Amino acid sequence: MRLDGMHHITMITGDAQRVVDFYADVLGLRLVKQTVNFDAPEAYHLYFGDEEGTPGSILTWFEFRGAARGRPGAGAVHTIELGVPHARALDFWEQRLAEHGHAHHRPARDSLKLADPDGLSLELVTADPHNAPLTATHHAIPPEHAITGVEGARAYIGRPLEADAQLLTDTLGFTATDTGGGYLLDGPTRRFRWTYENTAQHALQGAGTVHHIAWHAADSDHSVWRQRLLDVGMTVTPVIDRDYFHSIYFRQPQGILFELATTSPGFAVDEDPEHLGERLCLPTQHEHLRTRLERTLTPLRNPRATANAGLSDAAGGR
Ligand code: ZN
Repeated sequence: MRLDGMHHITMITGDAQRVVDFYADVLGLRLVKQTVNFDAPEAYHLYFGDEEGTPGSILTWFEFRGAARGRPGAGAVHTIELGVPHARALDFWEQRLAEHGHAHHRPARDSLKLADPDGLSLELVTADPHNAPLTATHHAIPPEHAITGVEGARAYIGRPLEADAQLLTDTLGFTATDTGGGYLLDGPTRRFRWTYENTAQHALQGAGTVHHIAWHAADSDHSVWRQRLLDVGMTVTPVIDRDYFHSIYFRQPQGILFELATTSPGFAVDEDPEHLGERLCLPTQHEHLRTRLERTLTPLRNPRATANAGLSDAAGGR
Protein backbone atom coordinates (compact mmCIF):
# COMPACT_ATOMS: atom_id res chain seq x y z
CA MET A 1 0.00 0.00 0.00
CA ARG A 2 1.61 3.26 -1.18
CA LEU A 3 0.39 6.82 -1.44
CA ASP A 4 0.63 7.99 -5.06
CA GLY A 5 2.20 11.40 -4.49
CA MET A 6 0.23 14.55 -3.90
CA HIS A 7 -3.49 14.80 -4.76
CA HIS A 8 -4.19 18.54 -4.39
CA ILE A 9 -3.12 21.61 -2.42
CA THR A 10 -5.70 24.11 -1.18
CA MET A 11 -5.12 27.82 -0.64
CA ILE A 12 -7.08 30.85 0.54
CA THR A 13 -7.71 33.91 -1.60
CA GLY A 14 -9.57 37.16 -1.13
CA ASP A 15 -10.40 37.45 -4.84
CA ALA A 16 -11.50 34.45 -6.92
CA GLN A 17 -11.33 36.27 -10.25
CA ARG A 18 -7.73 37.28 -9.64
CA VAL A 19 -6.88 33.62 -9.00
CA VAL A 20 -8.70 32.57 -12.20
CA ASP A 21 -6.88 35.21 -14.24
CA PHE A 22 -3.49 34.20 -12.90
CA TYR A 23 -3.71 30.40 -12.79
CA ALA A 24 -6.08 29.72 -15.71
CA ASP A 25 -4.73 32.43 -17.99
CA VAL A 26 -1.17 33.51 -17.14
CA LEU A 27 -0.04 30.03 -15.99
CA GLY A 28 -2.40 28.19 -18.35
CA LEU A 29 -3.92 25.64 -16.00
CA ARG A 30 -7.51 24.56 -16.60
CA LEU A 31 -10.26 25.68 -14.25
CA VAL A 32 -11.76 22.22 -13.80
CA LYS A 33 -14.45 22.90 -11.19
CA GLN A 34 -16.38 25.84 -9.84
CA THR A 35 -18.06 24.79 -6.66
CA VAL A 36 -18.47 26.06 -3.10
CA ASN A 37 -16.82 25.28 0.20
CA PHE A 38 -18.94 22.35 1.43
CA ASP A 39 -18.69 23.59 5.03
CA ALA A 40 -19.30 27.27 4.15
CA PRO A 41 -21.30 27.31 0.90
CA GLU A 42 -21.28 31.09 0.58
CA ALA A 43 -17.57 30.82 -0.37
CA TYR A 44 -16.27 29.62 -3.73
CA HIS A 45 -14.09 26.55 -3.98
CA LEU A 46 -12.26 26.59 -7.31
CA TYR A 47 -10.16 23.74 -8.68
CA PHE A 48 -7.42 24.08 -11.30
CA GLY A 49 -5.31 21.39 -12.92
CA ASP A 50 -4.58 19.59 -16.16
CA GLU A 51 -7.27 18.88 -18.77
CA GLU A 52 -8.96 16.21 -16.63
CA GLY A 53 -8.09 17.50 -13.17
CA THR A 54 -5.78 14.56 -12.55
CA PRO A 55 -4.52 14.11 -8.97
CA GLY A 56 -1.01 15.54 -8.83
CA SER A 57 -1.96 18.52 -10.99
CA ILE A 58 -4.64 20.03 -8.78
CA LEU A 59 -4.46 23.37 -6.97
CA THR A 60 -7.62 24.68 -5.30
CA TRP A 61 -8.75 27.89 -3.62
CA PHE A 62 -11.35 28.87 -1.09
CA GLU A 63 -12.43 32.44 -1.66
CA PHE A 64 -13.10 34.51 1.41
CA ARG A 65 -13.89 37.75 -0.34
CA GLY A 66 -11.68 40.60 0.76
CA ALA A 67 -9.63 38.41 3.14
CA ALA A 68 -6.48 40.17 4.30
CA ARG A 69 -3.16 38.67 3.32
CA GLY A 70 -1.84 36.02 5.64
CA ARG A 71 1.73 35.03 6.26
CA PRO A 72 3.36 31.62 6.16
CA GLY A 73 4.99 30.46 9.36
CA ALA A 74 5.51 27.37 11.48
CA GLY A 75 3.01 24.67 10.64
CA ALA A 76 2.23 25.91 7.14
CA VAL A 77 3.23 25.19 3.56
CA HIS A 78 4.99 28.26 2.17
CA THR A 79 6.09 27.38 -1.39
CA ILE A 80 4.66 25.25 -4.19
CA GLU A 81 6.92 23.84 -6.89
CA LEU A 82 5.34 23.53 -10.34
CA GLY A 83 6.96 21.37 -13.01
CA VAL A 84 7.99 22.28 -16.53
CA PRO A 85 9.42 19.71 -18.96
CA HIS A 86 12.92 21.20 -19.30
CA ALA A 87 14.96 24.27 -18.31
CA ARG A 88 14.42 25.84 -21.77
CA ALA A 89 10.72 26.19 -20.91
CA LEU A 90 11.75 28.60 -18.17
CA ASP A 91 13.00 31.04 -20.84
CA PHE A 92 9.44 31.04 -22.20
CA TRP A 93 7.98 31.55 -18.73
CA GLU A 94 10.37 34.41 -17.93
CA GLN A 95 9.16 36.19 -21.00
CA ARG A 96 5.47 35.39 -20.43
CA LEU A 97 5.57 36.59 -16.82
CA ALA A 98 7.35 39.79 -17.88
CA GLU A 99 4.70 40.41 -20.56
CA HIS A 100 1.99 40.07 -17.91
CA GLY A 101 3.84 42.35 -15.48
CA HIS A 102 4.60 39.63 -12.90
CA ALA A 103 7.83 40.01 -10.97
CA HIS A 104 10.05 36.91 -10.98
CA HIS A 105 13.66 35.92 -10.69
CA ARG A 106 15.79 33.08 -11.98
CA PRO A 107 18.24 32.00 -9.27
CA ALA A 108 19.41 29.04 -11.36
CA ARG A 109 18.94 27.73 -14.88
CA ASP A 110 16.36 25.20 -13.69
CA SER A 111 14.48 27.44 -11.27
CA LEU A 112 12.17 30.41 -11.72
CA LYS A 113 10.69 32.02 -8.61
CA LEU A 114 7.65 34.22 -8.38
CA ALA A 115 4.75 35.13 -6.13
CA ASP A 116 1.11 34.80 -7.17
CA PRO A 117 -1.20 37.85 -6.86
CA ASP A 118 -1.99 36.92 -3.22
CA GLY A 119 1.72 36.66 -2.37
CA LEU A 120 1.99 32.85 -2.36
CA SER A 121 5.51 31.71 -3.33
CA LEU A 122 5.76 29.55 -6.44
CA GLU A 123 8.80 28.01 -8.03
CA LEU A 124 8.86 26.61 -11.55
CA VAL A 125 11.30 23.70 -11.65
CA THR A 126 12.22 21.00 -14.14
CA ALA A 127 9.94 18.03 -13.59
CA ASP A 128 11.07 14.65 -12.31
CA PRO A 129 11.29 12.48 -15.47
CA HIS A 130 9.38 9.80 -13.52
CA ASN A 131 6.29 12.05 -13.49
CA ALA A 132 4.17 11.84 -16.65
CA PRO A 133 3.28 15.38 -17.77
CA LEU A 134 -0.16 16.51 -16.60
CA THR A 135 -0.81 19.48 -18.85
CA ALA A 136 -3.71 21.73 -19.77
CA THR A 137 -4.34 23.34 -23.14
CA HIS A 138 -4.02 27.12 -23.40
CA HIS A 139 -4.18 29.04 -26.68
CA ALA A 140 -1.09 31.14 -25.90
CA ILE A 141 1.13 28.50 -24.28
CA PRO A 142 3.00 26.06 -26.55
CA PRO A 143 2.36 22.51 -25.26
CA GLU A 144 6.13 21.89 -24.95
CA HIS A 145 6.38 24.67 -22.35
CA ALA A 146 3.16 23.97 -20.42
CA ILE A 147 3.20 23.32 -16.69
CA THR A 148 3.27 19.56 -16.09
CA GLY A 149 1.87 19.23 -12.57
CA VAL A 150 2.98 19.89 -9.02
CA GLU A 151 6.46 18.58 -8.23
CA GLY A 152 6.91 19.52 -4.63
CA ALA A 153 6.07 21.78 -1.73
CA ARG A 154 7.98 23.29 1.17
CA ALA A 155 6.59 23.83 4.65
CA TYR A 156 7.83 25.65 7.73
CA ILE A 157 8.13 23.97 11.09
CA GLY A 158 8.95 25.58 14.40
CA ARG A 159 10.25 22.65 16.44
CA PRO A 160 12.59 19.70 15.85
CA LEU A 161 10.98 17.37 13.39
CA GLU A 162 11.34 14.02 15.12
CA ALA A 163 7.62 13.23 15.44
CA ASP A 164 6.93 14.58 11.96
CA ALA A 165 9.73 12.48 10.50
CA GLN A 166 8.36 9.37 12.14
CA LEU A 167 4.84 10.00 10.80
CA LEU A 168 6.17 10.59 7.29
CA THR A 169 8.54 7.65 7.05
CA ASP A 170 7.07 4.98 9.34
CA THR A 171 3.37 5.63 8.78
CA LEU A 172 2.94 7.37 5.42
CA GLY A 173 5.80 5.81 3.45
CA PHE A 174 7.92 8.86 2.62
CA THR A 175 11.70 8.48 2.26
CA ALA A 176 14.13 10.94 3.84
CA THR A 177 16.40 12.33 1.11
CA ASP A 178 18.64 14.31 3.48
CA THR A 179 18.93 14.91 7.20
CA GLY A 180 17.75 18.50 6.98
CA GLY A 181 14.04 17.93 6.31
CA GLY A 182 13.93 16.72 2.70
CA TYR A 183 11.53 13.87 1.85
CA LEU A 184 10.35 12.07 -1.24
CA LEU A 185 6.96 10.46 -1.63
CA ASP A 186 7.65 7.90 -4.33
CA GLY A 187 4.29 6.53 -5.41
CA PRO A 188 3.30 3.93 -8.01
CA THR A 189 2.88 6.61 -10.72
CA ARG A 190 4.03 9.94 -9.23
CA ARG A 191 6.80 11.35 -7.08
CA PHE A 192 6.52 14.38 -4.86
CA ARG A 193 9.26 16.30 -3.02
CA TRP A 194 8.24 17.44 0.44
CA THR A 195 10.56 19.68 2.42
CA TYR A 196 10.49 20.99 5.97
CA GLU A 197 12.37 24.19 6.82
CA ASN A 198 12.74 25.83 10.21
CA THR A 199 11.31 29.19 11.12
CA ALA A 200 10.63 31.15 14.29
CA GLN A 201 7.77 32.99 12.60
CA HIS A 202 4.15 32.21 13.48
CA ALA A 203 1.77 31.49 10.62
CA LEU A 204 -1.10 33.87 10.04
CA GLN A 205 -3.89 32.34 7.98
CA GLY A 206 -5.25 34.61 5.25
CA ALA A 207 -5.10 35.30 1.53
CA GLY A 208 -2.05 33.76 -0.11
CA THR A 209 -1.61 31.03 2.49
CA VAL A 210 -2.00 27.29 2.14
CA HIS A 211 -4.94 25.73 3.97
CA HIS A 212 -3.99 22.06 3.56
CA ILE A 213 -2.22 19.51 1.40
CA ALA A 214 -3.85 16.28 0.27
CA TRP A 215 -1.97 13.09 -0.50
CA HIS A 216 -3.32 10.68 -3.09
CA ALA A 217 -4.64 7.35 -1.77
CA ALA A 218 -5.97 4.54 -3.96
CA ASP A 219 -9.73 4.12 -3.49
CA SER A 220 -9.31 0.60 -2.14
CA ASP A 221 -6.65 1.65 0.41
CA HIS A 222 -8.43 4.67 1.87
CA SER A 223 -10.04 3.01 4.88
CA VAL A 224 -6.84 1.06 5.58
CA TRP A 225 -4.89 4.33 5.72
CA ARG A 226 -7.44 5.72 8.15
CA GLN A 227 -7.03 2.73 10.45
CA ARG A 228 -3.24 2.92 10.22
CA LEU A 229 -3.33 6.59 11.31
CA LEU A 230 -5.69 5.78 14.19
CA ASP A 231 -3.35 2.96 15.23
CA VAL A 232 -0.43 5.39 15.66
CA GLY A 233 -2.58 7.74 17.73
CA MET A 234 -3.52 10.37 15.16
CA THR A 235 -6.86 12.13 15.46
CA VAL A 236 -8.50 11.51 12.09
CA THR A 237 -11.87 12.63 10.75
CA PRO A 238 -14.39 10.10 9.47
CA VAL A 239 -14.39 9.58 5.70
CA ILE A 240 -16.03 12.64 4.14
CA ASP A 241 -17.65 12.57 0.70
CA ARG A 242 -16.29 15.59 -1.22
CA ASP A 243 -18.28 14.67 -4.37
CA TYR A 244 -15.11 14.47 -6.54
CA PHE A 245 -13.15 12.26 -4.10
CA HIS A 246 -13.44 10.91 -0.57
CA SER A 247 -11.31 12.47 2.14
CA ILE A 248 -9.96 12.06 5.63
CA TYR A 249 -8.13 14.83 7.48
CA PHE A 250 -5.63 14.98 10.31
CA ARG A 251 -2.98 17.39 11.57
CA GLN A 252 0.63 16.33 11.47
CA PRO A 253 2.50 16.98 14.75
CA GLN A 254 3.43 20.60 13.95
CA GLY A 255 -0.05 21.53 12.88
CA ILE A 256 0.02 21.21 9.09
CA LEU A 257 -3.39 19.95 7.95
CA PHE A 258 -3.00 16.76 5.92
CA GLU A 259 -5.75 15.13 3.89
CA LEU A 260 -5.80 11.75 2.18
CA ALA A 261 -7.99 11.92 -0.93
CA THR A 262 -9.08 9.11 -3.24
CA THR A 263 -8.80 8.89 -7.03
CA SER A 264 -12.53 8.46 -7.67
CA PRO A 265 -14.97 9.58 -8.80
CA GLY A 266 -13.12 12.58 -10.29
CA PHE A 267 -14.36 15.84 -11.80
CA ALA A 268 -16.43 14.41 -14.65
CA VAL A 269 -18.96 13.00 -12.17
CA ASP A 270 -21.28 16.01 -12.54
CA GLU A 271 -20.07 17.70 -15.75
CA ASP A 272 -19.25 16.76 -19.32
CA PRO A 273 -15.43 16.37 -19.45
CA GLU A 274 -15.40 18.79 -22.42
CA HIS A 275 -16.97 21.50 -20.29
CA LEU A 276 -15.35 21.09 -16.88
CA GLY A 277 -15.34 24.24 -14.79
CA GLU A 278 -17.70 26.22 -16.97
CA ARG A 279 -20.66 26.41 -14.60
CA LEU A 280 -21.31 26.45 -10.87
CA CYS A 281 -21.60 22.87 -9.58
CA LEU A 282 -23.20 22.54 -6.17
CA PRO A 283 -23.07 19.55 -3.86
CA THR A 284 -26.51 17.96 -3.48
CA GLN A 285 -26.88 19.18 0.10
CA HIS A 286 -26.46 22.80 -1.05
CA GLU A 287 -28.40 22.61 -4.35
CA HIS A 288 -31.40 24.28 -2.67
CA LEU A 289 -29.20 27.37 -2.17
CA ARG A 290 -28.46 27.74 -5.91
CA THR A 291 -30.66 30.77 -6.59
CA ARG A 292 -29.17 32.67 -3.68
CA LEU A 293 -25.59 31.58 -4.38
CA GLU A 294 -25.82 32.50 -8.07
CA ARG A 295 -26.82 35.96 -6.91
CA THR A 296 -24.21 36.37 -4.16
CA LEU A 297 -21.15 34.64 -5.67
CA THR A 298 -19.34 36.96 -8.07
CA PRO A 299 -19.73 35.57 -11.61
CA LEU A 300 -16.35 34.45 -12.92
CA ARG A 301 -14.82 35.25 -16.28
CA ASN A 302 -13.21 32.00 -17.45
CA PRO A 303 -10.34 32.83 -19.82
CA ARG A 304 -10.77 29.51 -21.64
CA ALA A 305 -14.43 30.24 -22.44
CA THR A 306 -13.43 33.69 -23.69
CA ALA A 307 -10.61 32.28 -25.85
CA ASN A 308 -12.90 29.58 -27.28
CA ALA A 309 -15.59 32.17 -28.03
CA GLY A 310 -12.94 34.22 -29.83
CA LEU A 311 -11.84 31.19 -31.84
CA SER A 312 -15.37 30.26 -32.85
CA ASP A 313 -16.03 33.90 -33.84
CA ALA A 314 -12.98 33.71 -36.07
CA ALA A 315 -14.30 30.44 -37.50
CA GLY A 316 -17.57 32.03 -38.55
CA GLY A 317 -19.39 32.88 -35.35
CA ARG A 318 -20.64 29.39 -34.60
ZN1 ZN B 1 -8.61 19.18 0.19
